Amino acid sequence: MATLGGSDAAARRGSLRDVRLSHVITVLEELYPPAWAESWDAVGLVCGDPDQEVRRVLFAVDPVAAVIDEALEWGAGLVVTHHPLLLRGVHSVAATTPKGRLIHRMITNGIALHTAHTNADRADPGVSDALARAVGLTGDLRPMVPADDDPRRGLGRIGELDEPVTLREFTERAAAGLPSTAWGVRAAGDPDAVVRTVAVCGGAGDSLLDTLLDTGRASRVDVYLTADLRHHPASEFAEHGGPALVDAAHWATEWPWLADAERRLAASSPEAGKLETRVSTLVTDAWRLHAEGAL
Ligand SMILES: [Zn+2]
Repeated sequence: MATLGGSDAAARRGSLRDVRLSHVITVLEELYPPAWAESWDAVGLVCGDPDQEVRRVLFAVDPVAAVIDEALEWGAGLVVTHHPLLLRGVHSVAATTPKGRLIHRMITNGIALHTAHTNADRADPGVSDALARAVGLTGDLRPMVPADDDPRRGLGRIGELDEPVTLREFTERAAAGLPSTAWGVRAAGDPDAVVRTVAVCGGAGDSLLDTLLDTGRASRVDVYLTADLRHHPASEFAEHGGPALVDAAHWATEWPWLADAERRLAASSPEAGKLETRVSTLVTDAWRLHAEGAL
C-alpha cells in the first residue's frame, strides 16, 4: 500500500514508558467525549483490556488490515482510528469475515482499538479545524452548524483566507496542503471567481449543502470544501446560486486531524506524554487510480 513521503515525518518520539490503557482511554474521552457523537455512531473502545499496558499508540483514519499490519510491525498497543470498525450491529466476530479477522488479530496480539468519529468532528478543535488549517485558514474559525450546548463546537468550520485568491488558486492550495490521493482535488464554480471566506467539513459533507444555501449568503461563504460530493447535489447546489464547491478525497480531508489528536493526547497528561505515538502515513483512501478522459 502507498505511503506518504517522508518516512518519519509524522512520527513523534517520546521516552518509552508503559501506560495503562484505561488512562489513555480516559484522556481520549475527555478530548473527544462519546456523548458528542451522533446517535447512529459507534465510538469508544472497540477491543482491548483497560488493565493492559500500552507503550505505542498508532493514529489512523481507517481500521483496515494494512493499518493493523502496521500496528503489529511497529508494536503498537493501541490503535486510534477516526472511522468505526463495527458501525452496525453484529452477532459474530468470528474470523470468517474481514472485520472478524481484524478483531482476532488485534486481540491475539494485545492491540486495543479506540474510535473517535463524529465526537471528533464536533470537538473544538476537531476534524474540520485540522482540515481548515491544512488548506490555509489561519484566523478564527466558527462552526457551520453550532452544537446546541456550546456554539464554539459543532459541524464544519468557516474562516477567512489571509488574502483573497481565485477559486483556481484556492483549489491548488488545498491540493498542496492535503496528502496526495488518486482522487486529487476538484472544484465546481467559476475558476476565476475570487474567494476569501471558506467553509470546510472533513469527510462526507453533502448533508451541509442545504445549510449553506440557507445561511451561505448571510455568512458570505465563497467556497465550501468537503468530500464525497455527488453529481446531482453539486449540480443543483450551483443552480441555486450556492458558493463554489471543492471536493477532495474522503480520507485526505480527515487525515490532518490525526496529528492534532496525537499532539493533544501527548499534551493531556504527564503520563500520556510518555507514550510513543505515530500517525500512519498509509494512504487508505478507497480509490487508487485516476485517469483523464481523452475525448
Ligand atoms: Zn469519514
